Amino acid sequence: MSDKIKIAYLYEDLMNTYGDSGDVKILAFLLKEQGYDTQVDNISLGADFNAFDYDFLFFGGGQDFEQTVVAKDLVRHRDTIKDYIEASKPMLCICGGYQFLGKYYTMVDGTTIQCLDILPLHTIFKADHRMIGDTEYQTEWGTVRAFENHGGRTYFDDKNKLKPLGKMIEGYGNNPEDKAEGMRYKNTIGSYSHGPILKNENIAKAIANKIIHSHQDCLATAK
Ligand code: GLN
Repeated sequence: MSDKIKIAYLYEDLMNTYGDSGDVKILAFLLKEQGYDTQVDNISLGADFNAFDYDFLFFGGGQDFEQTVVAKDLVRHRDTIKDYIEASKPMLCICGGYQFLGKYYTMVDGTTIQCLDILPLHTIFKADHRMIGDTEYQTEWGTVRAFENHGGRTYFDDKNKLKPLGKMIEGYGNNPEDKAEGMRYKNTIGSYSHGPILKNENIAKAIANKIIHSHQDCLATAK
């Protein structure tokens, strides 16, 4: 086990809308400040992947077309991603990446993509209305300001298991009805926030700390 922190960026070349790759850069910067070098691997189409080789998984947003391409390949990695999430290892999923954790995503043209079915949520495009604009919401770590652009509306199928990441102050978040943004389950966070979300120092530092703890746990187990 190396002392370097290893980050898997799932489908970096396909899922990286509206500055999401900035999330990984910000984390690398914060981890460096704490004395850790990082290695970022792009896990793209056809790649072998064991989630437990990594200290952190990142999954960015994407357009519907890219999501249909990714969905076909992603299914191979379902079990390793599920086991990683259940083991309370840290993961951040944005927009399309967040939608992929649920059961399915029904797109604007009515086509349904089967998603990973790891967490009890689903996403559906209901009317000819995209949720675009600035967002602001209250989280455990304070106020977060970001930008959203999505057609999909996400609904939790088990509100006891999943908690929202934040309470909306401005914008839509998961959907127009719930006034809630994103999702938390163990150390996995899903969010509709681009911009990137981790330009918000409060949540960026919280995630960097989760990564350091997870890394230290792995080093301790390997000894
Ligand atoms: N294509 C998805 C939607 O429109 C996700 C968008 C995104 O990742 N920005 O809902």
